Amino acid sequence: MAGEKYVYDFSEGHRDLKDLLGGKGANLAEMTRLGLPVPAGFTVTTSACQAYLSTGRNPDGLDAEIDGHLAALEAAMGRRLGDPEDPLLVSVRSGAAFSMPGMMETVLNVGLTDASVVGLAAQAGGDDRFAWDSYRRLIQMFGKTVCDVPGEDFSDALEEAKKAKGATDDLHLDAADLRALVDRYKHIFAKHTGYEFPQDPREQMRLAMEAVFRSWNAERAVLYRRQERIPADLGTAVNVVAMVFGNLGADSGTGVAFTRDPASGAQGIYGDYLANAQGEDVVAGIRNTMPLEDLQGLDPRSYEELLGIMAKLEGHYRDLCDIEFTIERGKLWMLQTRVGKRTAAAAFRIAAQLVNEGMINLDEALRRVSGAQLAQLMFPRFDLSGDPVALTRGIGASPGAASGKAVFSAERAAELAGAGEDVILVRRETNPEDLAGMIAARGILTARGGKTSHAAVVARGMGRTCVCGADQLEIAADRFTVDGCTVNEGEVISIDGTTGRVYVGAVPVRPSEVVQYFEGDEVDSTLVEAVHTIMSHADATRRLAVRTNADTGDDAARARRFGAEGIGLCRTEHMFLGDRKELVERLILAVSESARNDALAALLPLQRADFVDLFRAMDGLPVTVRLIDPPLHEFLPSLEELAVNVAVARERGEEHSEDERLLDAVRRMHEQNPMLGLRGVRLGLVIPGLFAMQVRAITEAAVQLAGEGLNPRPEIMVPLVGAVQELEMVRQECEQIVAEVVAGSGVQVLIGTMIEVPRAALTAGQIAEAADFFSFGTNDLTQMGWGFSRDDVEGAFFWRYLELGIFGISPFESIDRDGVGRLIRIAAEEGRAVRPDLKLGVCGEHGGDPESVHFFHEVGLDYVSCSPFRVPVARLEAGRAAITGGDSDSR
Ligand code: ADP
Ligand code: MG
Ligand code: MG
Repeated sequence: MAGEKYVYDFSEGHRDLKDLLGGKGANLAEMTRLGLPVPAGFTVTTSACQAYLSTGRNPDGLDAEIDGHLAALEAAMGRRLGDPEDPLLVSVRSGAAFSMPGMMETVLNVGLTDASVVGLAAQAGGDDRFAWDSYRRLIQMFGKTVCDVPGEDFSDALEEAKKAKGATDDLHLDAADLRALVDRYKHIFAKHTGYEFPQDPREQMRLAMEAVFRSWNAERAVLYRRQERIPADLGTAVNVVAMVFGNLGADSGTGVAFTRDPASGAQGIYGDYLANAQGEDVVAGIRNTMPLEDLQGLDPRSYEELLGIMAKLEGHYRDLCDIEFTIERGKLWMLQTRVGKRTAAAAFRIAAQLVNEGMINLDEALRRVSGAQLAQLMFPRFDLSGDPVALTRGIGASPGAASGKAVFSAERAAELAGAGEDVILVRRETNPEDLAGMIAARGILTARGGKTSHAAVVARGMGRTCVCGADQLEIAADRFTVDGCTVNEGEVISIDGTTGRVYVGAVPVRPSEVVQYFEGDEVDSTLVEAVHTIMSHADATRRLAVRTNADTGDDAARARRFGAEGIGLCRTEHMFLGDRKELVERLILAVSESARNDALAALLPLQRADFVDLFRAMDGLPVTVRLIDPPLHEFLPSLEELAVNVAVARERGEEHSEDERLLDAVRRMHEQNPMLGLRGVRLGLVIPGLFAMQVRAITEAAVQLAGEGLNPRPEIMVPLVGAVQELEMVRQECEQIVAEVVAGSGVQVLIGTMIEVPRAALTAGQIAEAADFFSFGTNDLTQMGWGFSRDDVEGAFFWRYLELGIFGISPFESIDRDGVGRLIRIAAEEGRAVRPDLKLGVCGEHGGDPESVHFFHEVGLDYVSCSPFRVPVARLEAGRAAITGGDSDSR
């Protein structure tokens, strides 16, 4: 775009420009506007990055704009970039619209050269050690991120230097050691790149900026985006920030902090501080940090100022903020803030706290939590009643209870998990290269780093259980040791992400307190209070009703405790299994009408008893019963098994007429594509009396309960209808029976259909003439809409489709709005046009998927139905969908 502005000074931006300036840039600008101490700097937009990535070079005008802003920065600071006498140094930092912690690149100390390192030392009052330490950091970061020099080569050289000196950490290296290390680093750099470390400061800056642009497409960033469902084409902004120095001695340092505990949500000051260090040292867990509170003793003035700023930021963003700061010789500088990531429990607690503090209203609280987080809180916890003895303890960084085989590399984690094993990834510390292993693992255990370490941040973001900083662990390539006890690769361990405890073996689990609360137990906890507050608001706000898919009285009763307002789908086929299979076989094999009627008559009381249980559990609420759906051969023994039995019998000369008759029937009924064969309404039309028996069982059960003074509300649902004629014929048959059975009982029965064949959706106007309700069977509608056989495609090629981006998520998991969703829209509109009081619901698995619930709200359905455990999730998301500006994503 001609004349597009690509560069913004921090004084020009603000927090609402995240898409353009990235989160880091927008918030640096916001802090500048608030008058907080932020070093001067500017941001190159994401749109410049997009242009660079599509053409491989900077867009026209960008370089000149950068030169202009650099000149202004130099003027403001009274220093020139890389000036040998008195150099200005800058950091070149990535920052996308969505936070991707540690995924992309940052280079500090840009502008240092063989010449300016001398000037830097002089300006620092002759602090040679500081200058050479900064220079070696530049070569290391620049080499690694800009020129792909293997990071270990640098860290090995550092380790060697420490060892030669007998030093335990980098602080024990003096100026001469660091100067020698710089030579070593330059040598490593030249060896890998084939050229010398660049001595032109502006060239360093240009290369670093381009590297940040390119880091958007680094493998780990691509993987992280896929995992977090962040679009691939946004690009990253680049921030150029005047350096301030935390490595200038004991009165300097660097830290990270949260305004509330991101793991529990508790109010307070949470953070880590590291004296005489540069920023990335804290996050990388290289030295042991000290708790932020200890800064009070060290530098009370900066500490007080920091607390004031944190309070101000929290008030301004009205949310938990995380911050990065540096103290340079007693002067505090703010280097980053953002609304912080948090665990599911913290999200609920913080939202409820902020409501109590009057900072946000209930709508906003509802917006800030998500169904995915609620689902996480419903996971089981460790049952500690057997008093298992913990092997060691680290920091509970991301809650959950995880057991699995210990593995010591990301590759091994991915390999074993791929083979279906539960694994716990154990690492000294994690880095972005471990991401694939972290995704594959049930939990992550590290020996180093705090709540802000890479492992902790990434695990929380993914909802993985994580214990970090278990510093008693001595980790080797295939085992770890604590206090003389060794755990080898493949041995099972358990980690508790709340308490930080680590156990040998598998610890049994118990239900979470949130589930106990949903079950109706008295639970005294701040988390349950928060969940209660927010769920109550969701219930008061939502327009969609939430029903459950349940086939038994027990499931129905549990779902009702979880808030289900009826049954949206009772599958009747399970009622034909178990010891009833023999009756079904008799039905299928019946050769005469009377044999068939006998079989049906034997099934009737059994079915009726099932429905009595169900209606009782859902007294007063609607219960949708689907007439039998799957193909009948599913109820017969397998073809192979029978064929073998018959062959063996023949071989032995034995009489086996029963199996032979069965084999004949199975052969007769064999279908190439059973999902598209004789099932659903087609069965009802082909096997006389089958649907009639079910309808009789349903209505008789209802009448029986009405006689007890209960209020059963049956809804009979016909599956797999594609043409109105099918429904009309079944309806006529049903109505006769209903009229006969319910006469005088006061029971009302609705008759409706599933919409799961595309033709039904497209002729919904006709079908509505014969239906009291539609229930979208989104599993079949997706299968038939896409022409996918679910059981075949998911293993065979979906991974490839996801990789190619043909879809971002499986259409069986989240509704395909454009295609299958369009069928639903058409059916809803055309059905309602004919019959305005047509009840509309959905009973596929999508009914419990957050994204999909928002879609069903938008198209105006009356209810969603999902499995009992998803009912609270659907209630919450239905509430979120109903508030304006709601978004299924709480990021
Ligand atoms: P990330 O996105 O991985 O957090 P950042 O761009 O925030 O990367 O940089 C990492 C660390 O480098 C920051 O925490 C900060 O402490 C330090 N840092 C970045 N820019 C500067 C600067 N101009 N002066 C001093 N330290 C800086
Ligand atoms: Mg940062
Ligand atoms: Mg179906």
